[in-house]
Amino acid sequence: MTAQLSCLACGGQGLKGVADLGTSPVLTGALFDDRDSARRAVHGRLDLACCGDCGHVQNVAFDPALVEYDVSYDNSLHFSGTFQQYVDELVARLVDKYDVRGRHVVEIGSGKGDFLGAIARAGGNAGTGYDPTVAPGTTIPGVRLVQDYFRPGDQVDHYDLLVCRHVLEHLNDPANLLRSLARSAPAAAVHYVEVPSAEFNFGPDGLWDCIYPHVSYFSAGSLLTLLRRCGFEIESLGRSFHGQFISAEVRAGESVDIRDDASEHIRVVSEFARRHRESVARWRGEVAASGQRGQTVAVWGAGSKGVNFLNAVDPDGMLPTVDINPRKWGRFLPGGGHRVIAPGELAERDVSTVAVTNPVYRDEIAGTLADLGVDARVVTV
Ligand SMILES: [Zn+2]
Repeated sequence: MTAQLSCLACGGQGLKGVADLGTSPVLTGALFDDRDSARRAVHGRLDLACCGDCGHVQNVAFDPALVEYDVSYDNSLHFSGTFQQYVDELVARLVDKYDVRGRHVVEIGSGKGDFLGAIARAGGNAGTGYDPTVAPGTTIPGVRLVQDYFRPGDQVDHYDLLVCRHVLEHLNDPANLLRSLARSAPAAAVHYVEVPSAEFNFGPDGLWDCIYPHVSYFSAGSLLTLLRRCGFEIESLGRSFHGQFISAEVRAGESVDIRDDASEHIRVVSEFARRHRESVARWRGEVAASGQRGQTVAVWGAGSKGVNFLNAVDPDGMLPTVDINPRKWGRFLPGGGHRVIAPGELAERDVSTVAVTNPVYRDEIAGTLADLGVDARVVTV
């Protein structure tokens, strides 16, 4: 493995440990056919350090050899109405702002091709997507999906818009990819970059986003520093999706090395370990108390956050775990080996509390529970 001694965003040497979260399943998005294999899933260590220069957080114990993305990886959020609305608005905004009509759009990390398909439809565009997790034979009108990684130096046809969403935080050397893109980018091309927000992740509403596949936790400041350093000029950069993401629109330009003051972000990050510990203890208490009353706590959301929460609070895999994505029903989650059930199955159980891992979906979930006749407290974790 390659231990990281310098900051992946600014290249500085001032990394300082902030939270050692122990081991966690390497692929929180993986689904298994049986409980035993799910419990035997590969684990890796999460040892987070923060850069004293730009506030970037990274897992210094990350071992890229442990992470393998293949077709069994499903990180799709497209079954949620709330998320779909965000994506629809983003597609419409990009098409209008940059007149992306009849153009070529490239996406690095295109997943199953949902976003690229939407932007192809919205503007009559041609799309090319790169992602090792797309199933061979997947066809989307106007879109060519390459079942592979996009690697620094790879040649790509002329493009007008390049989209790179939720990719940089997975890379062991994001600067390498960005520098290569900046060097070969068509002059007028816009690049839309989106990553999870460390301000949210380490702030009061986020606790469960530290997952093994994320090497990096970008703040607005550390993403800005990285993009500028790699030769991009910033068109816009800010928080999106209810503050949970950072979105940047950039074009290739001069490379500059500047860091903004990161002291406030560094202070927030330094409080994280204690809050995480306290929350785990509180939820373990809630699960035990509920069990004593003959009831159960259910968890809603079998995505990365849910898996992370479940493995911290319920490592034995006892709690019912709901997801609205039918592709996950009847399958098992890595670590505790929780079986994913459909929302309707909750009606058959005595549920005291539904733990929602993402506050954005709270109202949507409360509505579904009311429709099912499940009378439980809905609590955001
Ligand atoms: Zn840094």
